[in-house]
Amino acid sequence: MTEKCSKYEAYSMFASEKDFFDHLQECEDCKKEFEKELRLSALIQDSAPTYKAMVNTKKLMCKIACVLVLFTSFGVFTGFEVKQHERFDNFVKANTETSVISQDGLPVDDYGFFDYN
Ligand SMILES: [Zn+2]
Repeated sequence: MTEKCSKYEAYSMFASEKDFFDHLQECEDCKKEFEKELRLSALIQDSAPTYKAMVNTKKLMCKIACVLVLFTSFGVFTGFEVKQHERFDNFVKANTETSVISQDGLPVDDYGFFDYN
């Protein structure tokens, strides 16, 4: 059993390009390592568009979620406001109609009290 060459990293990082490729010509282990790196590089380049599309989809989903939250909160608050107005109108109507003072034919304010004006 032969020992595997351990010079690949040193050659790929510190040797000149000519020395590196010269070593690849004579060393089968480093040549296999280099081919693995080439395949990995190609794989990364092939998957880049998919990754970018996923990132863009996430950004789009985030924008949609923000818009939905804004519309939902706007609807809740405006609905709450309308409800408050309805409740106040009903309150005024009930007070002016059921007030003892108004039943006697006297003018009343929004709260059913005698209106001095
Ligand atoms: Zn080698």
